[in-house]
Amino acid sequence: MSYFRPSVDAMTGYQPGEQPAPGVKVIKLNTNENPYPPSEAALQVLRGFDGELLRRYPHPMADSFRDAASQVLGVPHDWILAGNGSDDILNLLVRACTEGDRKIVYPTPTYVLYETLAEIQDTKVVEVPYNDDYNLPVEQLIEANGAITFIASPNSPSGTLVPLDVLSKLASHLSGVLAIDEAYVDFADYSALELVKEHNNVIVLRTFSKGYSLAGLRLGFGVANPELLSGLIKVKDSYNVDAVACAVGAAAIADQAHKNASAERVKASRAKLTADLTQLGFKVGPSQANFVLAQAPNNKAGALYQALKERGILVRYFKQPRLDDKLRITVGTEEQNQALISALTELLA
Ligand code: PMP
Repeated sequence: MSYFRPSVDAMTGYQPGEQPAPGVKVIKLNTNENPYPPSEAALQVLRGFDGELLRRYPHPMADSFRDAASQVLGVPHDWILAGNGSDDILNLLVRACTEGDRKIVYPTPTYVLYETLAEIQDTKVVEVPYNDDYNLPVEQLIEANGAITFIASPNSPSGTLVPLDVLSKLASHLSGVLAIDEAYVDFADYSALELVKEHNNVIVLRTFSKGYSLAGLRLGFGVANPELLSGLIKVKDSYNVDAVACAVGAAAIADQAHKNASAERVKASRAKLTADLTQLGFKVGPSQANFVLAQAPNNKAGALYQALKERGILVRYFKQPRLDDKLRITVGTEEQNQALISALTELLA
């Protein structure tokens, strides 16, 4: 007999991108971290952090963070729920809204964690494939009518953004929750945040891991009307955001100038990386995120991934249909991107 529930026995578990061994220097372009440092104002809060605040439990709703976020986002603070990364909010949604035939629906390929969370919860999944142009298959998503429909916009790994009128149409036809995962929105042309005011069933998810260069902090949040948040609050850990994340996150979100400046640098490098890869024979889709999805010449993606790894350059390779001829490459600093392009030039010669 197994110790575990059958659904846990049957699953593989989410496989995060590789981490280098401690002390080993690599160029890490595989998990979409921001190559630039976090806000100096946020780092100062970290350096000056009062140990007394660690002795005590943190505020259960991370109120000082919510106040800062509310100012920046222009929504009341009870429309914001903070989490231990946006993965925490995804997890709360799945646990609060779904089980069995109360199904989860999403277009594929997309963020693999949606499937993993469904497996843990023993929830049925309906996957609706994107076409090669990555236009959202709205009619099929409406027909599937999930208890939750997850749309990553910009999507990973394609980097594509869904137009707001399409998201709005989807929201108005679904009876369940539409969760718009905006992990990469800081690098995109527009956000769907306003839709939370127009549709009671929409929640928008954000993270500090990408635009704010704080993946190690583990902070994310959801924005929705208080009634939609109420079920998630019942399910969450009592203290799901630690005192350090709450204080540093409040300072980071207040420093929009820093976040916007580093996003602009990443976007400029994204354009150059796209041009350089195209020059080398890759087919690169247009990206609104801090990574590009690049189809390798001569079907060499798997071999290139391995050869780059041997040279200390990590990129993401998904061994699955439709993606196994491509590499997902995080936009690094200009020097890192140049090192990647030089290595690829040699490998493809
Ligand atoms: N959504 C998407 C689409 C992502 O790619 C990621 C990060 N891999 C997340 C959410 C989770 O981000 P975090 O938990 O670090 O906030």
